[in-house]
Amino acid sequence: MADRLDGKVAVVTGGASGIGEGTVQLFAEEGARVLAADILDERGQSVVESIGPSAAYIHADVSKEADVAGAVAHAVERWGRIDAIFNNAGAGGANAGLLEIDEAGYQATMDLLLKGVVFGIKHAARAMLATGGGAIVNTASVAGINAGAGPAIYSVGKGAVVHLTKIAAYELGQHGIRVNCICPGGIATPIFGKAIGLSPEDADKTVDAMAQVMGGAQPIARSGMPRDIANAALWLSSDDASFVTGHALVVDGGLTLGRPRTGEFDQNIRQLFQSLGLEVPAE
Ligand code: NAD
Repeated sequence: MADRLDGKVAVVTGGASGIGEGTVQLFAEEGARVLAADILDERGQSVVESIGPSAAYIHADVSKEADVAGAVAHAVERWGRIDAIFNNAGAGGANAGLLEIDEAGYQATMDLLLKGVVFGIKHAARAMLATGGGAIVNTASVAGINAGAGPAIYSVGKGAVVHLTKIAAYELGQHGIRVNCICPGGIATPIFGKAIGLSPEDADKTVDAMAQVMGGAQPIARSGMPRDIANAALWLSSDDASFVTGHALVVDGGLTLGRPRTGEFDQNIRQLFQSLGLEVPAE
C-alpha cells in the first residue's frame, strides 16, 4: 500500500528527527505532501531534501503560538489545504523532581509539551474548517498514563495531552475533525541523549545503543522504532480511522503491562528459602 494519504496535506512538528522524521518519510511514501516543522533547521532541511518536492521544511518553535500558526499557514499557502497535523515535537524538559522543580523549568516544559499542542490543534482545526474536516494526532507518552516513565513535569504534560486529546475530539467532532493521540513506549531516538545534555549531533550517535538498552524492557523483545509510531500516526491520520476519535493509542510493545518475567526472581527466592533452612523441591 502506498496511497493511504493520497492527495492529503500534512504538517509534522518535530519533523527533523526521530519519530517526526520517520513520520514525514512515511506520510510522503503514502502520497501526502508534508511540511516538517522544527527548530533543527539543517537536519530538517536534509530530511525533506532526501524526500523531494512532496516535502518541505519550516522553522517553527512550537512553544510560540505565532510559529505554530505560521507553519499551518505555510502548508495552506503552499498546497492549498491542510488535512492532517501530527503535533509531535517534544523533549524531556526539566529533569527535576517535584522537590526541586523551579518555575522556569516548569514553564519551558509545559510550553513545549502542552502549549505547543494546544496551538497546533487550534490553528490546524481553524484551517481544516475550510475543507470540512481533517485528522489531528498528538504525541503523548506512556509517561502520561503511568508514573515512573519520565521526569515529573514531562509526565504531567504528557498526561495533559491525553486529556486535551479528548477535550479537542469532543469539541471538534461536529466539524468533521478527529483528534487522537499516541502514547509511545521506549522508542530508539536521540531524545534520551538530549535529555541528559548531549548536543543533537552527539545524541544521534546514541540511538543504536538505546535500541539495545530498551530491547529487553518490554514483553515484545525489541526496542520500539520511529516507524512503529509513524505507522500508528498514519493509520490515525488516514480515512481508515474515520470513526476513531478521542483515543489514546498505546504503542509500547507491552511496556505498560509490566516487566518481562525472568528466571532470576525465581532463582533468588529459591536461594532465599534455602538460606532459611527450608527444603526446597528441585525445579
Ligand atoms: P527527537 O529528539 O528525535 O525528536 C524530537 C524533535 O522535536 C526534534 O527534532 C526536536 O528538534 C524537536 N523539537 C524540540 N523542541 C522543539 C520546539 N520547541 N519546537 C519545534 N520542534 C522542537 O525525539 P523523539 O523521541 O522522536 O520525540 C518525539 C516525540 O515523542 C516527543 O514529543 C517525545 O516526548 C515523544 N515520546 C518519545 C518517546 C521515546 O521513547 N523516544 C517515548 C514517548 C514519547
